Amino acid sequence: MPPLDEVLGLIRAYPDLPPEAVFKEDILRRGLAFSPEARQRAAAGKRKSYFIFSFDLQDLPEEAEGAAASTPEEVRLAGGAFRFRPTVVSVRNHPRSPYRIETGAEDDIRLTLDGEPVCGVEFPPVPEYYRRSLSSGKPVIDICPTIEWGYLLYLAVYRLCQYSSPETECRFCDINHNFRRRQKSGQSYTGIKSVEEVLEALEIIASTDTVGRAYTVTGGSIYGTLHGETEAEFYGKYPLAIESRFPGRWTGKLVAQALPREELQRLKDGGLSIYHPNYEVWDARLFEMLCPGKSRYLGRDLWMKRILEAAEVFGPSRVIPNFVAGVEMSAPYGFSSVEEALRSTGEGLEFYMSRGICPRFTTWCPEPMSQLGRTQGGAPLAYHVGLLRLWRETHRRHRLMVPPGYGPPGAGHAMFSVSAFMDVLPESPENQG
Ligand code: SF4
Repeated sequence: MPPLDEVLGLIRAYPDLPPEAVFKEDILRRGLAFSPEARQRAAAGKRKSYFIFSFDLQDLPEEAEGAAASTPEEVRLAGGAFRFRPTVVSVRNHPRSPYRIETGAEDDIRLTLDGEPVCGVEFPPVPEYYRRSLSSGKPVIDICPTIEWGYLLYLAVYRLCQYSSPETECRFCDINHNFRRRQKSGQSYTGIKSVEEVLEALEIIASTDTVGRAYTVTGGSIYGTLHGETEAEFYGKYPLAIESRFPGRWTGKLVAQALPREELQRLKDGGLSIYHPNYEVWDARLFEMLCPGKSRYLGRDLWMKRILEAAEVFGPSRVIPNFVAGVEMSAPYGFSSVEEALRSTGEGLEFYMSRGICPRFTTWCPEPMSQLGRTQGGAPLAYHVGLLRLWRETHRRHRLMVPPGYGPPGAGHAMFSVSAFMDVLPESPENQG
């Protein structure tokens, strides 16, 4: 079915969903192409930082690195035939995508689908701190890029993962490839960031910015030690240092593997607010197949047990594990029907949400240098649309609050850019987290 018909069919079938959210999910799974003129205009805006994974649907060879440099971090869609409310979408390069950003007859910038105009497009402004560098000469964009239209300070302090062999690496992940690619391109791209340089970058941001509200400390997994530190010791020292230097300035979030309770208590006592022990995929067999390193070194049972323990430490609403929406349907291991995939994912949502824990998801980007991305595209749009409705319905039924640390909810307000879960929540004040 032509992409436009598919999107319009789903919008008609589910009038309870904001049409912007349906388009957003489709753009995320198909990626974006740019006309040369649009690229030129985008180059003046805030560029894509490749903050941790490539999040591209094309592996950009060296000669196309110029294209990478003129890719915006995100776009904001608005107006057009569907009267879109402002909708922030992460940019995933894909030159053959049916979604294309072009300049219009009146020099406006617009999004088209299969050549049909969809809506207007805005590129993100360059924040003052993106023009600044640390005393070492490293640009702030290397040490602390920001996403979600400037809301989230993204501290990927370890841009590699010790699950780096084909037997241990998560099959949907290209973190190690992305690191090598960025280094090869010659851009400043630090693999292991020191606490000192993180604090220096934050000093610059704190003195020039009023948009950022949260930070995430994150990176690849450490199953042994890194520079003599365990994963909890390595990652934990960043939020502790940030909260000591800038107490309460931003909402502090940490993405790490499922850590022991006593380590989490230490981090909570040190000021960390939110913990993301990402479980990636709910189904037990798929967890083992798609996350072989996590499966081998921790195992699903321990992972799930520690998520529940984390809820006792932080409070359930502040434990927000992520899953990668769409890998449930990846061949050869995944479910072959949308219904089966939704049933399984829904079981996981029910398990957590009935306990007050609110998982969230990123829409799978089948990066070509990940194991799964080499062979296939993602899940059908019907799955992503079904998931939006299922997530929202489960969230509503358990009367959960808006996940904290993501900014305002609702179409026209949400800033989370790598899936539409925040766009489908109501914007009513009583739901504000
Ligand atoms: S644990 Fe898996 S998803 Fe996370 S960085 Fe390592 S390989 Fe990637």
